[in-house]
Amino acid sequence: MPGFDQTLRPFLWRAERLYPDREIVTRTPEGRRRSTYAEYGDRVRRLASALDVAGVDRGDRVGTVCWNHDRHFETYFAVPNAGAQLHTINPLLPDEHIQYIVGNADDRLLFVDPSLAETVASAYDADAFASVERIVVVGDALPDVDLPDAITYEKFLRGHTADYEWPELPGDAPAGMCYTSGTTGNPKGVEYTQQMLWGHTMAMLTPQALGIEDSDVVMPVVPMFHVNAWGFPFAATAAGAKHVYPGPSPDPADLAALIEEEGVTITAGVPTVWLGLLEHLEDRDADLSTLERVVVGGAAVPEIVIRRFDDMGIEVLHAWGMTETSPVGTVARRKHGLEAADYDEQVTKRAKQGLIVPGLEFRVLKDGDEPIEWDGEDFGELLIRGPWVTDEYYGRPDANESDFEGSWLRTGDIVTVDPDGYVEIVDRADDVIKSGGEWISSQELENAVMAHEAVDEAAVIGVPHERWGERPVAFVVPAEGADRESLPDGIEALLREDYPDWWLPDAVEFIDAVPKTATGKFSKKDLREEFADEPLIEGQTPDARE
Ligand code: ADP
Repeated sequence: MPGFDQTLRPFLWRAERLYPDREIVTRTPEGRRRSTYAEYGDRVRRLASALDVAGVDRGDRVGTVCWNHDRHFETYFAVPNAGAQLHTINPLLPDEHIQYIVGNADDRLLFVDPSLAETVASAYDADAFASVERIVVVGDALPDVDLPDAITYEKFLRGHTADYEWPELPGDAPAGMCYTSGTTGNPKGVEYTQQMLWGHTMAMLTPQALGIEDSDVVMPVVPMFHVNAWGFPFAATAAGAKHVYPGPSPDPADLAALIEEEGVTITAGVPTVWLGLLEHLEDRDADLSTLERVVVGGAAVPEIVIRRFDDMGIEVLHAWGMTETSPVGTVARRKHGLEAADYDEQVTKRAKQGLIVPGLEFRVLKDGDEPIEWDGEDFGELLIRGPWVTDEYYGRPDANESDFEGSWLRTGDIVTVDPDGYVEIVDRADDVIKSGGEWISSQELENAVMAHEAVDEAAVIGVPHERWGERPVAFVVPAEGADRESLPDGIEALLREDYPDWWLPDAVEFIDAVPKTATGKFSKKDLREEFADEPLIEGQTPDARE
């Protein structure tokens, strides 16, 4: 029996002792802020002590509403190592979702960026936020918005020293939490134990996954509220690598400057980010020669991204994962032997979601329980299990029943597997839209559109888009006598009341009736097929699924 459990603590200890001078760099509105693992370790212990004194107990949840920066990273080790649970909240969600998430998680403290204070103030509701005792604003001054019981981060740390002693925690202690949005109903909470994060971190370090090393300079562009920035902050620390955090709303020029000036070797984000960077580089010179790997995930990578980065000598690693899988599940590495294949074949393989990482198992089932052939054609639903795959949602017996089969997670992704074992997503079992790596619930949107008095029926589908992956388009059956000219504006105004800009459909199309299935349900598939060849919105691309 091992004498000690698998927790995050040794990763921090090792980085502090072996790499005290290795840097942690953040882009802030005032310029770059630099510190080292030695300083980081001290600040993390001060924060843990402050949490202790604030009465945060074992298993309590501490929420963050923050971008990617060093202070957010401080909560990554302080909260779980102190025995509490780090709950990262996605600020891009509609207010109602944020209210549900904070209430469901029972967050006791919230760490909020000044630039997101308004988001939190807008979602703030005394009932939904009843568990929140204090809001810690991660800035030097309190913002000019109404946030009850707010205090600045530095004030919260004041008086606390670095001699805090970490508690000994069991591997099954809850360490993290992240909500994922689905087709219907409220977001579902996924909890990460110490052991899950430990296992995921170790897998990320292997060359079979991402192969992160102490010589790496790691820049997660994927938000830290998305499954712990896909685990990069933990893996970079475990390796003793340098961290680079791009701060709030980095644009392609900011990313190029950070890569160039900080010597970034590995970075990660959704396809939209890389399409933006590639476009930016078209007519500008930037020296990205340090960059070795770009991890692309959250949505399928377009082949052109792989080819363009290849031309610059930079390897795209396409990865697939879910909130439920901590998240990395597959990586489209070049499998041994593939170097000998011709370039186009290599690119085709690398554009698939990839090879299962060591430690996980998957199966693909069609018609309920029949395994598919690994021939690259036969398809079915992907099920996955392993030490960093959750086997339940927090407090959601309804979802647990439909989404799990024993230890297997039903991913909702419809995939093929080729004879080499490369998994490729060909469809989604449920009806959600992913725009720039973020979920939009088509059902929620159509219910909102149907609330308009001049609308009889509405269906919303995702239309493939060159920049965002998908964008929503609303198909609307106007009520008799409706003023068709003003209706799209009326619908937009209605949606704006409850949804962020990026949820709003790019177009409203009028139709006579929404196609239905034999049982009378909306058939989005028929709708998609009917309009497959029609240009509906700017930037639309052909539907790969047709
Ligand atoms: P993430 O933060 O990784 O986007 P989510 O839990 O929000 O995690 O979404 C997971 C889903 O996103 C997957 O089930 C899949 O449908 C989609 N997805 C993730 N990665 C990819 C990818 N590389 N290619 C296509 N779809 C992907």
